[in-house]
Amino acid sequence: MELYKENQLKIYNSLSKTKEVFTPITEGRVGMYVCGPTVYSNVHLGNLRTFMSFDMIFRYLLHLGYKVRYVRNITDAGHLESDADEGEDKIAKKARLEEIEPMEVVQRYTVNFHEVTKKYNFLPPSIEPTATGHIVEQIEMIKEIIEKGLAYEVNGSVYFDVLKYSENNHYGILSGRNIEDAIHNTRALDGQSEKRNPQDFALWKKADERHIMQWPSPWSDGFPGWHLECSVMSSKYLGEQFDIHGGGMDLKFPHHECEIAQSHSCSGVQPVNYWLHANMLLLNGQKMAKSTGNNILPEEILTGENKILSKAFGVGVVRFFIMQAHYRSILDFSDEALLASEKGFHKLMEAMEVLKELKVAKTSTFNVTDWKNKCYQAMNDDFNTPILIANLFEAVKFINQIKDDKASITATDLELLQNALHVFVFDVLALVNDAKEQSSDKLEGAVELLIKLRKEARENKDWALSDQIRDELADIGIQLKDGREGTTFSVN
Ligand code: AMP
Ligand code: ZN
Repeated sequence: MELYKENQLKIYNSLSKTKEVFTPITEGRVGMYVCGPTVYSNVHLGNLRTFMSFDMIFRYLLHLGYKVRYVRNITDAGHLESDADEGEDKIAKKARLEEIEPMEVVQRYTVNFHEVTKKYNFLPPSIEPTATGHIVEQIEMIKEIIEKGLAYEVNGSVYFDVLKYSENNHYGILSGRNIEDAIHNTRALDGQSEKRNPQDFALWKKADERHIMQWPSPWSDGFPGWHLECSVMSSKYLGEQFDIHGGGMDLKFPHHECEIAQSHSCSGVQPVNYWLHANMLLLNGQKMAKSTGNNILPEEILTGENKILSKAFGVGVVRFFIMQAHYRSILDFSDEALLASEKGFHKLMEAMEVLKELKVAKTSTFNVTDWKNKCYQAMNDDFNTPILIANLFEAVKFINQIKDDKASITATDLELLQNALHVFVFDVLALVNDAKEQSSDKLEGAVELLIKLRKEARENKDWALSDQIRDELADIGIQLKDGREGTTFSVN
């Protein structure tokens, strides 16, 4: 039987602002859309935290036995510098500054994003569509919204009419913003603006001659508004109504609110059943952000090359650090916090090694079944990874007690414990045991040193020492092989 049938998963829904039992539209299947990166610079650790939260959620849904279609887009056009539909396109600006093609910017940072997510042990999404690959569909959606009377054209640009939409629908349903208040509190538009009301947002913008990214449309040569791509790509690949939509908290307004308005205008239904928002990673008490420079790159943590770090840290430590906080809580990044996570992570990894060699007994002094249920309860309670990790450490304590002959476990319980720990540590949290990788790096270094000493012995015609090195290494299972390119080794 699939695990989802015996686990009642509850998810905090930002739309209803309550925890709700998760029931997918189609039994056994989940459609999940997550707003992806805007590829105009390297992803920082803050971005990565949000994507990692959804990687963990994707992994847990898969573990429960759901067939998940996970769509995470790449924003490669239409994201302007300001949320008020003003300023340059972020990608076009970077292209102008670096004197390269916008698509070169897109390529460079998409490749970087893929490298980083691979290094950090993410599962790839099922579909990764791009905004520029869906211009035709975006134009079609704009036409539909105009036909419904909810958008208007001015000088080649098209804007969504928020006031008109609000006559029969609830704009603010997700963010809790009150449209009436917003109208009273927003300063009047200066004569320059084409919008009827400041709340309106762009569906299509006419490009001026400086704007390098532009496409033909019925209204002008221009480009789509940023919010549109997500409405288009989510409905194209997941349908008019789908299960989960995710993103960082900062996208709730205006991005997700506008997405709902656009999609709802076309389909007449609420597009998303469960809205999930991940909280921010802070650095120096402020949100990590590309624009302010207050950020650290995921690659810098692995090399230690950033002045806020005292040393390099492995992928496992960073994932552990992020998973120790609930995805809806703020998390403060610091060197001290990483050092503390490293201690905990190593303790967990050591126990995972000890677990492989434990002796079994006739009785268990720990209720493994209860413990395993508590792990599932934590994950079923809105993916509560900090509580899951606290439970994992209960198991660590027990494992160490067995090793010291202060506790005992039966063969059946040991198998249960091993399997469950493997699932939660490696499949769901996706921690990577780089402590082990680091020790294999050390082993490689030591064998290379012995190969060098053996070479020196041979050069000095000290055949006895050279043979001794080869034979004693062979005794412990390390074979040396002399070839034209030098000596290599293999471990049996
Ligand atoms: P962007 O590339 O700017 O569109 O952002 C990609 C994702 O990262 C979005 O879901 C943002 O909400 C999220 N994000 C941006 N800054 C942070 C941060 N400091 N902490 C967590 N998530 C963030
Ligand atoms: Zn989006």
